[in-house]
Amino acid sequence: MKSVRPITLNNTLSGKKELFVPLKKGKVTMYNCGPTVYDFAHIGNFRTYIMSDTIRRVFEYEGLKMKQAMNITDVDDKTIRRSLEEGVTLETLTAKYEKLFWEDMESLNILKPHKILGARDHVKDMIKMISVLLKKGIAYKTADGIYVSIDKVKNYGVLARLKIANTDSGTTGQANHEHGRIANDEYDKENPRDFAIWKFSANKDSAEEDETVAWNAPFGCGRPGWHIECSAMSIKALGKTIDIHTGATDLIFPHHTNEIAQSESATGKTFVNYWIHGGFMNVEDEKMSKSKGNFLKLADLVAEQISPIAFRYWVLTSHYRSQVNFSFDAVRAAQTALLKLCEEIIRWGEEEKIDTKAKTGKLKRIAKIAPDETYKKEFETAITDDFNMPQAVATMWKVTKDPALSPAEKKTTILDFDKVLGLRLADISTISTSPILKKEEIPLEVTVLAEARLAARLAKDWPKADALRAEIESRGFSVKDTEQGFTIEEL
Ligand code: AMP
Ligand code: ZN
Repeated sequence: MKSVRPITLNNTLSGKKELFVPLKKGKVTMYNCGPTVYDFAHIGNFRTYIMSDTIRRVFEYEGLKMKQAMNITDVDDKTIRRSLEEGVTLETLTAKYEKLFWEDMESLNILKPHKILGARDHVKDMIKMISVLLKKGIAYKTADGIYVSIDKVKNYGVLARLKIANTDSGTTGQANHEHGRIANDEYDKENPRDFAIWKFSANKDSAEEDETVAWNAPFGCGRPGWHIECSAMSIKALGKTIDIHTGATDLIFPHHTNEIAQSESATGKTFVNYWIHGGFMNVEDEKMSKSKGNFLKLADLVAEQISPIAFRYWVLTSHYRSQVNFSFDAVRAAQTALLKLCEEIIRWGEEEKIDTKAKTGKLKRIAKIAPDETYKKEFETAITDDFNMPQAVATMWKVTKDPALSPAEKKTTILDFDKVLGLRLADISTISTSPILKKEEIPLEVTVLAEARLAARLAKDWPKADALRAEIESRGFSVKDTEQGFTIEEL
């Protein structure tokens, strides 16, 4: 068995790069805060899911066994508000956006987590946890809900490095609730407060008689707060202590801070060993928001002829912790680079075929070709150093340009790297057949073949140009030479 390379990662908890030591040798448990399904997910959300997918792929590439869980927030302040606004049930609203979410995830080649947990299906687990917190005196009841007293929580706010005045840091005695209370799921860092884990409905005695979304509970009918949802589902799916928990930096406070508070107070155990937070994505230098009209969905990119896989590639060219600025120009440039890579892969495949025909017995040898050792080492050094994907991508480009490698060696090496990159390079046609690009008249792949043919013509490599023409025709298109280059038509 291959020995496992040391993997380092930046832990938000310590603020440092640390050596990753899993709870169980050879295994990794990871929880990703999932989407709130009240609207389309935006490309910033997808940057964060590409990050968690990359983390999973790196661990798997390094021979560790992953158990990955993700929640679907299908009940919270936002989903309830939106379902009331649209006059549809919460179930109808969230089912619609959850379906769209998984379609986008698929087109980005993001692997499905092993466990997907809907919040509404786990309210029982949340009620159990709240009961424990009440029993331990960490939580208290008010007229509108159950709150966690942050004064009762040991080390409240360490993840976000909060400075909290007047806290008795979990010692015994009465909490003074100096900080006030907040029922809202989202509030700002400047204002740490006792937060709601259960919100009573108008009719506290019975869920059935209540018109709003509510569940019966021993402490009164109501619904869970957002933070308790993730605590309960993470513990349910992966256990009291897990290796990794992810999200973007906006979740450090209050969401993850409160998750730690509830979980550790309830179980008495460390909740998460490594917290990984991705940088935010802005659009044309501004925060994404509906009112600014820069709230971009994946479909908005596709409408501009940008493939989801090209977006994925562009995301990988920045370090996951850096803040990035989306611009159509930047992603278009990334798509051009990716197309070039596809073109190379097609060319290597052709050269490999020609080579195989020329030398009998070579087919067997080619089948045994392994990824180039030196580059593989360089690639692994990058990916195990806090998931340094820009460096890994740079190594991939070095492979394509190295004249010392044969086409077959290049292809094998790059397809091996693609297990981590996830650019579907083994099946380059999918770059053009991602759901929405299908509508395009000329598939991107055919354009790539035509460009490769043009290059062959310019090099006066007629047999190759003819072979590429045949390839284009086999896909149902014809190519005509023009002064500017070529035109493509459907046969
Ligand atoms: P939400 O659906 O709002 O709960 O967010 C889903 C995930 O996307 C969470 O991990 C957020 O931290 C992350 N996220 C939200 N906005 C952005 C953004 N602009 N850039 C990167 N990640 C984001
Ligand atoms: Zn969460």
